[in-house]
Amino acid sequence: MSQFDAIVIGGGVNGLVAGTLLSRHGKNVCIIEKSNRFGGMASYSVDGGPTLAHSLYNLSPRALSDIGIDPQHPVLSGKPVSTVSLSEDGRHIVFNSEGVFWSEGAKHPESDAWSDLTKQLITYGGLLRQLAEASPPGGQKAILSRGGLNEFLRLAKLGRGLKKLGKSEMRRFLQVVLSNVYDIVLDDLSEGPVAGMLAADAIWGSATGPRSPGTVFNLIYRLGHGGNITQPAGGMSALTDLMVEAAQKAGCVLMPETKVSRIMLHDDTVSGVATNDGRTLTAPIVLSNLAPRLTSRMTGPSAFDIETMRRVRSIRALGTAAKVNLRLKDDAALPGLPSELAHERLIYAPSVEYVEAAFNPAKYRQMSKAPVIEAFKMQTADGANWLSTIVQYASSDIEGGWTQTAKEQLAQITVETLSHALPGLSDQISGKQVITPDQIEGATGAPGGHWHHAEMSLDQLLTLRPANGMARYSMGPKGLFQCGAATHPGGDVMGLAGRNAALAALEARP
Ligand SMILES: Cc1cc2nc3c(=O)[nH]c(=O)nc-3n(C[C@H](O)[C@H](O)[C@H](O)COP(=O)(O)OP(=O)(O)OC[C@H]3O[C@@H](n4cnc5c(N)ncnc54)[C@H](O)[C@@H]3O)c2cc1C
Repeated sequence: MSQFDAIVIGGGVNGLVAGTLLSRHGKNVCIIEKSNRFGGMASYSVDGGPTLAHSLYNLSPRALSDIGIDPQHPVLSGKPVSTVSLSEDGRHIVFNSEGVFWSEGAKHPESDAWSDLTKQLITYGGLLRQLAEASPPGGQKAILSRGGLNEFLRLAKLGRGLKKLGKSEMRRFLQVVLSNVYDIVLDDLSEGPVAGMLAADAIWGSATGPRSPGTVFNLIYRLGHGGNITQPAGGMSALTDLMVEAAQKAGCVLMPETKVSRIMLHDDTVSGVATNDGRTLTAPIVLSNLAPRLTSRMTGPSAFDIETMRRVRSIRALGTAAKVNLRLKDDAALPGLPSELAHERLIYAPSVEYVEAAFNPAKYRQMSKAPVIEAFKMQTADGANWLSTIVQYASSDIEGGWTQTAKEQLAQITVETLSHALPGLSDQISGKQVITPDQIEGATGAPGGHWHHAEMSLDQLLTLRPANGMARYSMGPKGLFQCGAATHPGGDVMGLAGRNAALAALEARP
């Protein structure tokens, strides 16, 4: 069968959610994925090692239930993990829903200040979530249309939420949301690891440091689903397998190992896609899980006006996060870390200044020699034990390119940095995998291997995401929609971009 109601190019988390939701609305849908497994960045791994993404904090229960997955499914019902800020003096700091504690159990003196600040940011995150669960406001819909009315009601609800905050809190929200995390965090906390942990959570995957404008928005975005961090039982691929199952159950046709080479147009309207192996599939709706630049390459530039092409080319996406997977010799506790903390989320970000200094080399196309690191100890399906780490900043445009020597240097820096707090770690390591942003780009197509396909900066958010005039998922020719992380509300293993795009497509072509 080569005739569909809708075709989704790319089977990342957002492509899977978009295709499944359209199928559940009665459309005959095909999801085409170039690699041999679905899930995109979320489940990408090398030789069965740990996946790129390794934790859930922003997965949308709404996107899940819209595609028929129970948000309480056993794969998703893991207990929240604590965050541990690793310290050189062995007094690690543990953050959880009860507050902040020294690793030996005593309450940290900044616990109350940290709890107050994070509670406030989580409240703001709830407000942003209301914006995230629909197209950005400001469309051209007539107020008396169903879409116009829905938008009006949603904005009214958001307005009520803001009003409920009270006058001074609302003023603070508006002041805070556009600020840099450096100032906001150090207003309430003293410089050190407690503040450093929040600064780190504001910059993962982005080409910004704590002093960059808008970094508080990124922190709030991350806290939009309440701030708990979990890991899917069976790893991230267990979650993407669940999504594949939901797509199949909804009736989607799944086409792995098939690369789309061209989006076909007829009279400025989408008519289908052509694949690398010479097949043609037709559909009046095509959703692209890829970044806008790749999508526009598939249609050819003549499908867009000059201004749109200029805006697409100007979208910023400098990937800054690499993955360094350290294979451990056995399942013993990590040196210097109490065994009960071994399976929590480990962070190396001793201060806000440290995070800012780690960003500086990225501005000059150098890798950070003292990076910010997030690590999880985990086991892969083959029984191997790993310390799976995300290393920030290792930018995609590094001077000289990501040669084997550069990769080895990054692995060495990662081990040396972690060894400040986990002395003797290098003796526990039996192998290393380094996955750099250019490799992530090669595997998934994400420009610069960028976590969110496009930088989450104030000029690329909400009605400006991915670019001015393209915020409501449709792009250029009639029937063409964007559904990936580059669109509102952005990336993470979340699913809302795919969900919102599918709803926009349904609304445009009922
Ligand atoms: C190092 C790293 C660590 C991360 N860790 C986390 C984490 O712990 N938690 C979290 O929530 N988020 C994390 N993220 C971010 C998260 O993984 C992404 O934001 C999210 O998965 C993006 O999903 P997507 O569906 O929009 O795009 P993608 O996952 O990029 O999917 C795009 C899909 O399109 C396919 N494709 C590309 N070209 C074609 C073509 N021509 N034809 C057919 N198919 C094609 C690709 O193979 C891919 O499957 C991380 C990102 C990185 C880089």
